[in-house]
Amino acid sequence: MSDLIRLDNLTVTYERHPAVHHISGTFRTGSLTAIAGPNGAGKSTLLKAIVGELRPAGGSIDRGALTRNDFGYLPQAADINRRFPISVADTIMLGAWKNSGAFGRFSREDAERAREALSVVGLSGFENRHIGSLSAGQFQRVLFARLLLQDARVILLDEPFTAIDQRTTRDLLDLVLRWNKEGRTVIAVLHDFDQVRAHFPETMLIARELVGWGPTQNIMSSTNLIKARAMAERWDEEAEACLPEDGLAEGDLAKREPAE
Ligand code: ADP
Ligand code: MG
Repeated sequence: MSDLIRLDNLTVTYERHPAVHHISGTFRTGSLTAIAGPNGAGKSTLLKAIVGELRPAGGSIDRGALTRNDFGYLPQAADINRRFPISVADTIMLGAWKNSGAFGRFSREDAERAREALSVVGLSGFENRHIGSLSAGQFQRVLFARLLLQDARVILLDEPFTAIDQRTTRDLLDLVLRWNKEGRTVIAVLHDFDQVRAHFPETMLIARELVGWGPTQNIMSSTNLIKARAMAERWDEEAEACLPEDGLAEGDLAKREPAE
């Protein structure tokens, strides 16, 4: 397998606070990688940097010949607004529209492909439903149908199975594995370690920095998982130390006007 995306000493920050730092390594063409790590480890940040939504503050991401259209990205559910008044069919075709560059009009062919994609994810006949009326599982199926239509070479999924029923999880996981068999590169943030061990040959374990990246059986060792947790506990303690009760940072106390 050849190198597809290379991270070199990558650091991504929010307002100069690093969310992930000094990450180096390679996703190879056709690989199937899980990203695991504690809450706040920077997993979502990393995916956003890979698709180009966030710029590196340090280091670099080498995407070779890949362009934005080569990436299919499924954000974490919390980042998606479902109250937007739009039908299932339009939600799906917006993905295709972005790729074809057609302006505001869907061809009959687009509609036909949308119908096919819906049938693959088990939602035949849902074309005209409002997305706000769907269950979490049905909505996730819609987003997978949209990914199907995008036909991307690289697929990034951010916690695709969180709060999703078992049946849907199984169906969509099958789809993910099929995409990978077709030669697509898949990177998925996951929190179910059994699922990772059973289906994902490669794992990147992060806790703001890299804990390990390589074959899943080596990376998901109890030593590494304990290490990742300890790193997360350390940053929780640091966060507390920075927030005294009155909400001022310690340095600010010295700057206060003396009481009259
Ligand atoms: P994960 O997906 O592993 O839970 P995230 O990438 O969402 O972690 O977040 C990593 C860190 O960056 C956290 O400390 C989080 O609070 C912070 N963060 C995430 N998004 C933003 C944002 N838009 N602005 C400021 N800080 C953010
Ligand atoms: Mg996240």
